[in-house]
Amino acid sequence: TAQNYQATDNCLQGKTILVTGAGDGIGRQAALSYAQYGATVILLGRTVAKLESVYDEIVALEYSEPAIVPLDLKGASAQNYHDMAATIENQFGALDGALLNAAMLGVLSPFAQIEESLFDEMMQVNVKSQFLLAQALLPLMSKSEHSSLIFTSSSVGRTARAYWGAYSISKFAVEGISQLISDEYEQSTLRCNCINPGATRTKMRAGAYPAEDPQSLRTALDIMPSYLYLMADDSIGVNGQSLDAQPPKS
Ligand code: NDP
Repeated sequence: TAQNYQATDNCLQGKTILVTGAGDGIGRQAALSYAQYGATVILLGRTVAKLESVYDEIVALEYSEPAIVPLDLKGASAQNYHDMAATIENQFGALDGALLNAAMLGVLSPFAQIEESLFDEMMQVNVKSQFLLAQALLPLMSKSEHSSLIFTSSSVGRTARAYWGAYSISKFAVEGISQLISDEYEQSTLRCNCINPGATRTKMRAGAYPAEDPQSLRTALDIMPSYLYLMADDSIGVNGQSLDAQPPKS
């Protein structure tokens, strides 16, 4: 299964892969892992210092030199994403994979108390940016012999849970975008899937569960097999799925 996937050396060799939210948490680890397996990674995020530290780490390990794209999903326009796609095409010639991972948690609260301004911000960052990014990237990704587009979901994007508010709604929308694209591109060389990381030791998780012991959680590295599987050629033909990156906690 994806959860037990054993990536082989250089399985991502020659691929160019975009990772959003690459400066921290799961995105940071995914960028490092994709680079480790041979990919040239494009690091998108809003905090340049964090992206630079991932860049430095990848260069120090002598993996393929990455690129940095500083972009805040909150303020970015369709034009920004189209410009980025054009730059990627000019610089790298192709885009074989995109992990759309960046998202915000917002504030957990009863539904009746969700602030309209927070709702709008969450929809902008977690949903509209995914729609605009996908629209901008699909033409370029469709030119690759095989390409993999991955959206990031959550368990509350499949079944809502009390107090998860706009975050939950936003992840339902992400599942919807992923299903739409995978259905429309079913006959194409592009595959599109969702991944639900499950409880993972990151700042976002700590924000949602401040009383939890982080040591009790799997790390971003632990959940990489599914992330590698969906990018590697072993998942060619896998389309329209919403995978869990980890088994339920026992
Ligand atoms: P983190 O908060 O640790 O990392 C999120 C990353 O996204 C950061 O690099 C952050 O940048 C970036 N980001 C946030 N907002 C923006 C923005 N407006 N523009 C650009 N970049 C932005 O989260 P995780 O690694 O935990 O989460 C990764 C994904 O996994 C998310 O989609 C999340 O919803 C999902 N997920 C996580 C779970 C978990 O247990 N951790 C469980 C289920 C789903 P910066 O560092 O600069 O703030």
